[in-house]
Amino acid sequence: MVILQDSFACVILHGKVVGERTGISKYMPVEKRSGGQMKKPVLYIVIPCYNEQEVLPITSKMFLAKLMELIEAGKIDEESRILYVNDGSKDDTWKLIVELSRQNEHYIGISQSRNRGHQNALLAGLMEAKDKCDVTISIDCDGQDDINAMDDMLEEYRNGCEIVYGVRSRRDTDTWFKRTTAQGFYRILNYLAGDVKIVYNHADYRLVSSRALAAFADFKEVNLFLRGMFPLVGFKSTCVYYERHERIAGETHYPLSKMLSLAFDGITSLSSKPIRMIVLLGIFISLISFIGVIWSVAVRLLGFSVDGWASIISIICFIGGIQLLCIGVVGEYIGKIYMEVKARPRYIISERTAMTHDKEEESCEEAK
Ligand code: UDP
Ligand code: MG
Repeated sequence: MVILQDSFACVILHGKVVGERTGISKYMPVEKRSGGQMKKPVLYIVIPCYNEQEVLPITSKMFLAKLMELIEAGKIDEESRILYVNDGSKDDTWKLIVELSRQNEHYIGISQSRNRGHQNALLAGLMEAKDKCDVTISIDCDGQDDINAMDDMLEEYRNGCEIVYGVRSRRDTDTWFKRTTAQGFYRILNYLAGDVKIVYNHADYRLVSSRALAAFADFKEVNLFLRGMFPLVGFKSTCVYYERHERIAGETHYPLSKMLSLAFDGITSLSSKPIRMIVLLGIFISLISFIGVIWSVAVRLLGFSVDGWASIISIICFIGGIQLLCIGVVGEYIGKIYMEVKARPRYIISERTAMTHDKEEESCEEAK
């Protein structure tokens, strides 16, 4: 367990003090670590990509223009980068990323050994960036999120926020179905999650400082639901609002089945309340059954007993259904525990753009 006592005080890991107020703690603000004076933060824009060859050439220019605008305005350091994470794409996405990094040093990329899903790709990018920069902004590759909200995010970072959530101000571009299911999902999640509230209408467009990422690195779980986990990290945080547009090109990778699976993962990785609800349901049904037993014995003793076929069948079906549902929910948690105890790596980076350039240079030299 990690206990953070007031802002930058001591950190206790499993009872051992590993950093103190006077020492250097990995949770200390970067500006403080580098000698007190405020410097321009190094920003890494982390962008997961899966089969995005249609959209990448368009949005990469937008991201670079934004990065250069921020550098020229003196808001971020020249060392800032756009970090693409190729999530095992089957198309030419990785080739495009390598090509971009060859054209401009502000683009860099890493590639996952296979497709692991958006959440794992994003985690890989954030962990790659955490020791190289002061602040990260994660954003999707498809241009749906308004890049101009980055200015407000950085402003909030300068005001002392360690996490800034990008929140959609409107959902007009979504279908009625997606809007209603998403709203219902956030309500259920917030009810189940307990103390820590999930930010409504926030996806994975957010600013996170390297300090918050250092704390986040201690969250070792393999079932990832990042938007629900960051509020657990704590620190000073806020929201900035923006309008979300349509995808610029390509197709969504989140059909209904994947959305449902993300929703289940969200609920089960944040809360064990469903199991408690099963216990309550069990108590309730037992109570009704008890009354039912007294009723049936009374009816039998009074001599009014009837055939009762339909009622028995209904009760068997009802109880059978409830039992299967409950076993399913418990099984869902056991499955999660199974994956957690295996503690397999959450991402495996197979290539980095810098590595690819080196290899190319070597083979050129060998050819000479
Ligand atoms: N993505 C990924 N791995 C996947 C699926 C998606 O890295 O297995 C990336 C995708 O390239 C995009 C982001 O995650 O940058 C969000 O995906 P998408 O736009 O398809 O989701 P939507 O916005 O429709 O919910
Ligand atoms: Mg999208």
